[in-house]
Amino acid sequence: MSDAAPLQLFNSLTRRLETFEPVHPGEARVYSCGPTVYNYPHIGNMRAYVFADVLGRTLSFKGYKLTHVINITDVGHLTDDADAGEDKLEKAAKANAQSIWDIAAHYTEAYWADIRALNIRQPAEWSIATQYLPQMIEFAERIAPAHCYELESGLYFDISSVADYGRLARSHEEADQEGRIDPVAGKRHPADFAIWRKTSPGETRQMEWDSPWGRGAPGWHLECSVMSGQLLGFPFDIHTGGIDHREIHHPNEIAQNQAFCCTNGLDVPANSGANLWMHNNFLVERSGKMSKSSGEFLRLQLLIDKGYHPLAYRMMCLQAHYRSELEFSWEGLGAALTRLKRLVMAVAQLTSQAAPASAPGAKFAPHLARFDVAISDDLNTSVVLTVLDEVLVMKKVDAGEKLAAVAAMDAVLGLDLLALERSVLRIRPVAAAIDEAEIEAVLVARKEARAAKDFAASDALRDKLAAQGVEVMDGDPLGWEWRLE
Ligand code: AMP
Ligand code: ZN
Repeated sequence: MSDAAPLQLFNSLTRRLETFEPVHPGEARVYSCGPTVYNYPHIGNMRAYVFADVLGRTLSFKGYKLTHVINITDVGHLTDDADAGEDKLEKAAKANAQSIWDIAAHYTEAYWADIRALNIRQPAEWSIATQYLPQMIEFAERIAPAHCYELESGLYFDISSVADYGRLARSHEEADQEGRIDPVAGKRHPADFAIWRKTSPGETRQMEWDSPWGRGAPGWHLECSVMSGQLLGFPFDIHTGGIDHREIHHPNEIAQNQAFCCTNGLDVPANSGANLWMHNNFLVERSGKMSKSSGEFLRLQLLIDKGYHPLAYRMMCLQAHYRSELEFSWEGLGAALTRLKRLVMAVAQLTSQAAPASAPGAKFAPHLARFDVAISDDLNTSVVLTVLDEVLVMKKVDAGEKLAAVAAMDAVLGLDLLALERSVLRIRPVAAAIDEAEIEAVLVARKEARAAKDFAASDALRDKLAAQGVEVMDGDPLGWEWRLE
């Protein structure tokens, strides 16, 4: 347990850094809004889970027993966050003439594959929205009398029934002034939102359930309030999501939580259901390839297909602070890959000399203390990476102890530095038809020719590889022996 530096985290609700004080001593309970599984996640979505993973790993490093829940939204999320449009899953099912359950299963698996590829730890629970229908109805029944009203289209939450509505967003008043066009007839206030959406006459839905308000489906915001409260208990410690959720989804969850817990003003943060609300900023891409509606969008598999190891993307995320916008570019990804490779090479040199010691040893204490300060400063991963660089260049220290220091930091960074091999980081597009074993064999023959000073033979072998698109790289300590052109 390391508790030298107090853990400071930025609370979006109060807009300041706060010292983490667990609700239950020694424990940390975290809920992260999960994906809506109507399509593949893009790499921006995955930034949200890299952030939540680093937060979870940090809480574990600080000695808290972590309970992390991530939900899977398989119903209720409309094409517009503000109550308009179609259910994203119903729409995808129609477009693909597939069962909605198959769509959800397929994209959930794809999301989990990305989770594993990015070395994101498994949460204690993946909560699936459609498995919580009875609890959602129960929750809605409890808050309905004092906080909701019924319209033909469903049951709506009256935002004027709770104090401080929109504190998290601090923007709903502005939105009102702009006179947002409200697509739902009869709502008392444009920001009122659906708790339960009735299936309208003539509409066919694949997913619908009976409720006191008629057959229909739950609202998206209701799901997260119900699952977080059920699995972690109100108040729990930390609720996370991308910064877009700070505007509508989370203010609405908070309003529901206030109604459910019969608490009021948000001057006591825990009245919102969670002590801390944390949000990662966006990954942005100028040409719009992150839009899921564009044909080829930026999913993790695209990076892998182009030959990049997925942990290069994790490194790219770690180099930036989670509250800063991060711009994606292939050059940036390449630079992150090079940085990762440099670390992996330095670690490989150590593992060739020694096994990791059971503890880092006193020489590393100042570095580990700075590492603790940096990660405890609202997860300053970019500073942690520089401390790691400093450890790796230390001279005249025991290799095993150095490895133990690296392992301690990597437990938070999650770059898998002790297991990753440099050769798997080689950029290798899937479309390239090459036989690595054959290339290695030619390189061995070339080495022998050079050793025998038969330069004509050695050049001929290099040309043979060049004809296959393989460039031989001599004398570049950071390069590979070969790469694909
Ligand atoms: P969704 O599947 O749309 O509910 O989004 C899953 C998660 O990704 C949510 O926490 C979003 O706030 C987050 N998110 C969406 N777009 C981005 C982005 N470009 N960069 C970072 N996080 C994002
Ligand atoms: Zn949510």
